[in-house]
Amino acid sequence: MGLFSKKIEICPVCGKEMNAGLFGDSMVVADGIICGACEKMLRGQFDVERHLELDGFVEGGIKEVSEDTLKALTIDDIRRIVNEKKEKQAEATGAYSGEFASILTAEEVFMIAPKPLDVGIKRAKELKERLVVRGLVQAGAFAKGDTVTIVHADSRIQTTLLDVIPCGGAVDFMTELKANMHKKEANINENAWLITDMVKDIQKDDIIGKVN
Ligand SMILES: [Zn+2]
Repeated sequence: MGLFSKKIEICPVCGKEMNAGLFGDSMVVADGIICGACEKMLRGQFDVERHLELDGFVEGGIKEVSEDTLKALTIDDIRRIVNEKKEKQAEATGAYSGEFASILTAEEVFMIAPKPLDVGIKRAKELKERLVVRGLVQAGAFAKGDTVTIVHADSRIQTTLLDVIPCGGAVDFMTELKANMHKKEANINENAWLITDMVKDIQKDDIIGKVN
């Protein structure tokens, strides 16, 4: 009541109640507010971009500027993208839940070669030219050290996850990798980067599965 009454708000994307406000699990986008669960579905794909900008005419005045690309999306955009992800999730779990307890469909695959200066000599060697898969955890969970199966062009390839980095709100992949402070696991409905022990043979739309 009065000063302490809480206004109940409904997420316009998923319809769930959300706790908006200063300490709430919600996020302001271009034309509204979405809940934390919907934000999690989009992270990794819509990240924070960093670029350099001239800082007026101050001597040596170049500063690093961060922009959250998710904030520029409208509720309509977000609803469409979240629905697409949920459809893909239903498709993948429908096709593979008999075989795997944990499932992720590769939305993006890229190769990394981190510098020893950034990650240390040992880790730079371990991660050199390894393929990273980004995608939504569609079932179960993935953690560092897991043995997973890549379903690639009808073949099954086993590999180990050298690391798992959840796609957080305010950080890009390299920043997270360098800092190495991340949770080394990701759960269902969360986006993650899976660093595999593979140097080839993974591509977009491949399924990454884990038996248990
Ligand atoms: Zn929501």
